[in-house]
Amino acid sequence: MREGLEEQTLESWLEQLKNRWPERIRDLPERLVLAKGALPEAARYSADKGWRRVLVVADQHTYEAAGMTLIRELDGAGAEAPVTLVEPNPAGDVVADEAAIVQVLLDVQRHGADALAAVGAGTLHDIVRYAAYTAGKPFLSVPTAPSVDGFTSKGAPLLIRGMKITVPAVGPVALFADTGVLLKAPKRLAAAGFGDMLGKATALFDWRIGRLAAGEPYDARVADITQRALDRCVRLADDIGRGTEKSLLVLMRSLIESGIAMLLFGQSHPASGAEHHLSHYWEMAFHRSGRRQLLHGSKVGVACGLIADLYHSLARERPDLVPLLDGVPTGEDIRRLLSAAGAPGTPGDLGIDGDLVQRGLAEAHKVRPNRTTLLRLRNEGLLDRLRLAENDPA
Ligand SMILES: [Zn+2]
Repeated sequence: MREGLEEQTLESWLEQLKNRWPERIRDLPERLVLAKGALPEAARYSADKGWRRVLVVADQHTYEAAGMTLIRELDGAGAEAPVTLVEPNPAGDVVADEAAIVQVLLDVQRHGADALAAVGAGTLHDIVRYAAYTAGKPFLSVPTAPSVDGFTSKGAPLLIRGMKITVPAVGPVALFADTGVLLKAPKRLAAAGFGDMLGKATALFDWRIGRLAAGEPYDARVADITQRALDRCVRLADDIGRGTEKSLLVLMRSLIESGIAMLLFGQSHPASGAEHHLSHYWEMAFHRSGRRQLLHGSKVGVACGLIADLYHSLARERPDLVPLLDGVPTGEDIRRLLSAAGAPGTPGDLGIDGDLVQRGLAEAHKVRPNRTTLLRLRNEGLLDRLRLAENDPA
């Protein structure tokens, strides 16, 4: 594996972080396992914890991909493993909404579960992290696809009465990603994971903007973790498109590292900027009109291309932005990389029309009122605040 990744397992990387950020040990998972045979390892971990009943939460697909095996392993390790199959909404999507959360909570109570296991991709994790938090139970993360970076996050983006809000919840006590399961995931999920990673290009830029224009907290060590994960994936775009084993495992590892970067910082700044706000805006619009949801990372990748277009065009009017944008790919670069990885590149590819694109670009900053992004400064006529850039200490 490139980047010296073969020299350091995810577990030893985690131990290194615990030494560097001792104040964050309580926020970090106890274990991060990305390996063949991670599911039996998850069962052994549960047994060591003394859990007698682990509620396995999945949807129909992820139950077949990994849930069944996990249940068998838990059973073999002496734990009961009742299952909750989260039901889709009327549009046919499993979403992290009131209905799904209550469905899981009812099963936690009914079975007297000691812990939960989130078996699936991002949405399943968001449902479980909030249900686990509310029930006061620990949960295990069992990712089934390299599709998103939010497996270890503590915040749960939920859709409550049609509004996307991110609420505090808990992160997993441990993550067990079985490479055998990940490599069988549908290609479009890995392409979405690549889109979520590419989004870090504009997210990291917006984080710097937030610091410069609004004094938002910033941590260069954390930004470095995310940047390295991004760079590694950018170099592997073609391989991810071809679905090579090595590249998919690097993608998964990078997504996990990006998620851990958010935990270290304590907020989503390292991984989420205007491209995520635009993606959330589209998601709410789709929800309001009862349309089938799109994969998070697919939207983020396309949104990242549009935000990169906008930012580079703003830099033509504001040359002082140019040095800040150094290293941020152009929209064209983003779309080329997405295409190489087999991901949708344009709003049209996602069935998003020009009107929704324009409304999103004008209003998406309102999705996160507490974040200062270049999109917000531009939309609120506050670009002058960036005079601070001249005093950038870094
Ligand atoms: Zn994301």
